[in-house]
Amino acid sequence: MANGKAGDARFDYIIVGAGSAGAALAYRLSEDARNRVLLLEAGRASHPYSHLPVSFGLLIDHPAANWRYSSEPEPGTANRQIPVPRGKLLGGSSSINGLVFVRGQPLDYDTWAQMGARGWSWDNVLPIFKRMENYEKGGDGLRATGGPLNVSEVPDQNPLYDALFAAAQAAGYKRNPDYNGADQEGIVKTQATIWRGRRMSTAHCYLKPAMKRVNLRVETAALTRHLLLDGKRCVGVAYEQGGAIKLAHAGKEVVLCAGAVSSPQILELSGIGRPEILQKYGISVRHELKGVGEHFRDHINARIIWRVTKPGVSYNDQARGLGLARQVLKYALTGGGFLSLPSAPLLAFLKTRPELATPDVQMHLVPYSVKDPKRRKLQDFPSMTGTCYQLRPESLGSIHIRSSDPHQQPAIRFNFLSDPIDQRTMIDGFRMVRKIMHANPLDAYRGEEFSPGAQVASDDEILGWIRNNSETAYHPIGTCRMGPGPECVVDDKLKVHGLEGLRIADASIMPTMPSGNTNAPCIMVGEKAADLVLGRA
Ligand SMILES: Cc1cc2nc3c(=O)[nH]c(=O)nc-3n(C[C@H](O)[C@H](O)[C@H](O)COP(=O)(O)OP(=O)(O)OC[C@H]3O[C@@H](n4cnc5c(N)ncnc54)[C@H](O)[C@@H]3O)c2cc1C
Repeated sequence: MANGKAGDARFDYIIVGAGSAGAALAYRLSEDARNRVLLLEAGRASHPYSHLPVSFGLLIDHPAANWRYSSEPEPGTANRQIPVPRGKLLGGSSSINGLVFVRGQPLDYDTWAQMGARGWSWDNVLPIFKRMENYEKGGDGLRATGGPLNVSEVPDQNPLYDALFAAAQAAGYKRNPDYNGADQEGIVKTQATIWRGRRMSTAHCYLKPAMKRVNLRVETAALTRHLLLDGKRCVGVAYEQGGAIKLAHAGKEVVLCAGAVSSPQILELSGIGRPEILQKYGISVRHELKGVGEHFRDHINARIIWRVTKPGVSYNDQARGLGLARQVLKYALTGGGFLSLPSAPLLAFLKTRPELATPDVQMHLVPYSVKDPKRRKLQDFPSMTGTCYQLRPESLGSIHIRSSDPHQQPAIRFNFLSDPIDQRTMIDGFRMVRKIMHANPLDAYRGEEFSPGAQVASDDEILGWIRNNSETAYHPIGTCRMGPGPECVVDDKLKVHGLEGLRIADASIMPTMPSGNTNAPCIMVGEKAADLVLGRA
């Protein structure tokens, strides 16, 4: 790179983490050739599997592209250590995720604004959601074309999908042509970050074009250890690359985009956070901020599996042996079939109680099933899966360092299902998945419920099974929460409270959970951060 060497003071902006938000931010900041930008990424540049949508299952536990964290044992989830995959390569988690594209509900962002995040209401963020997308079905008042991120409806066809649509309608739920439009509610064909059968990570959509610019320097295999502070001003970062510790200085700002797990970790390693936690690990307190690592939320996800009796519709049938060869050929010739699938081709956004203003649960309806949450193997028999999570969980956990060594994963405590509302909603959502799967239009397809099985029937049995078996839907947020007041970490301009020259822009700043999968909201945060940094808001 011509401009600026890591180790000298000639960068204007340093971005830590090249994930969903960081890549979008790097793209926008480097649009102006006068801005000299350094983007530091701990992971590698790419992984060959990443381009293939179905690689979601291959990369979910892959050491070359994934941090492969796990949670602390907690009584509310039967003292299990739940896997916490996070992307570790350019594009971050957008390079390994399930490719499902969901903006969330207007209510989500209006709630953020109500909680004190001025400038983040739905009316404020809609233009950003629009400028970032190229929606293949065309633009209107709510959707747009021409943005960097391609969004397409899943092209795969399967008679099972028709039966699932009919079953949901027979169960009393409507079909919705665009859940990212005026109304989220209903059963839907998934919109995915896929273009012509290939994954559209932020590495592809944002970084690939931006890396042609001489004013953007991207360093991979560069692990940020801590921030450089001069009094209450952040002036750069110390990072590790090729066995050496290097310093990089930011003339204007450092922006942390390391995600909801790593951003609070980097703050704590830099002496920013709760004094009792920093002191426990021998880190001197540079800036007390009680909210760092708190207010952690994620989606707990229950997966129910049914046998499928009709041959040829479940991909458990078709994705092995000769069937797999056919799928590879289909993908090569048409860009479709099993290999082109996001984590679910059909979704449902539903209300567990009719009096609710908007949906409170999301389902993923999948024409196959896997053996374990790490997804390494498909089940040996034809099957289908219905998953369910509560869209806006109340239970709050935490993520804090457990060592002063940046290579040690932080302690991740979900505290799932600690709030009674979450327990009730998960039980009701679970029953609604069963209601759809047991509706008449699926009679010709559905065999017995394989997991958990019909014997799990009462509320207590369902909740007990969820506690013992559910996983995360991989949507951690909130650990550097945006808002006013001492429990928050950044203000509505994403500036860290009480410090100069430091912002945070990733899933960690979200005050509450967006109603859906979190990639699109994270990219929006990166895009909006660029406006704030450049004073364009
Ligand atoms: C397996 C999986 C499936 C998912 N499926 C979906 C889905 O289908 N749809 C959806 O919308 N969302 C999905 N998500 C969630 C979504 O992808 C994430 O919410 C989103 O990508 C997070 O964006 P981010 O910018 O906050 O962090 P990330 O994209 O995770 O980026 C953080 C980046 O920072 C880097 N980093 C971390 N620490 C350091 C350090 N110390 N130094 C340098 N770099 C560092 C990381 O390597 C990473 O590249 C999924 C996530 C996972 C893991």
